[in-house]
Amino acid sequence: MKIYYVTTLQLHNEVYVIHEEGCKYLPNFLNRKFLGHFPSYEEALKESKKIYSTSIVCPFCINEKLFTNKS
Ligand SMILES: [Zn+2]
Repeated sequence: MKIYYVTTLQLHNEVYVIHEEGCKYLPNFLNRKFLGHFPSYEEALKESKKIYSTSIVCPFCINEKLFTNKS
């Protein structure tokens, strides 16, 4: 299980970014919301979308793994 956060500071392109704990792009505690412990980013994304329909995953801490796990 990993800990996931979502940014609460909406970006200029109107998306909310989900990060894994420990990501260097994770915003400070004032600008993020704790999502919970999830077995995968898909679960975290599902949870986040209940709150913010325009949620996406961070390309640095999550998308990277999509490529390595795809094959
Ligand atoms: Zn990240």
